Amino acid sequence: MVRVVAAIAHVTSACASVLILTVSFPSNLLQRCDQYVIMGKYQMKVWYQSPYPDDTTRIPKMYICEFCLRYQKSEIGIKRHASKCRWRHPPGDEIYRKGKLQVWQVDGKKHKQYCQHLCLLAKFFLDHKTLYYDVEPFLFYIMTLADTDGCHTVGYFSKNFVGLLI
Ligand SMILES: [Zn+2]
Repeated sequence: MVRVVAAIAHVTSACASVLILTVSFPSNLLQRCDQYVIMGKYQMKVWYQSPYPDDTTRIPKMYICEFCLRYQKSEIGIKRHASKCRWRHPPGDEIYRKGKLQVWQVDGKKHKQYCQHLCLLAKFFLDHKTLYYDVEPFLFYIMTLADTDGCHTVGYFSKNFVGLLI
């Protein structure tokens, strides 16, 4: 068994995904990809390929800004990005807070690029996730953990709100 720092677990293929903080999995599950995601102080071995643009599958480490979720191909790139990035929490509305935990509601229509980056990140850990770019009909709920640097993304789920209006 291998204990990983963070993982994203799938709930249903149509409308919900959840990121969980720590979980144990058989070590053979982690042999599928030889790529890592570096996000803040965490390094996670990915389980599946994700269709990021620019053919990122060949680079051994992807660097992702833990606030805006933009990706970089190098440590130099993420350091340069971090020096300019003004984001300190997800976009959208803070709808819940208790202690250092917050939940943010993010409309896929209003914050399309952020939600696309979130889905691409989730795909690293969800084999049958197919939502990457068509995020507009979805609401995303991002859980963050606050410290002096900002609100760090630790989990999320999404739901299709178009279907709820019918
Ligand atoms: Zn950023």
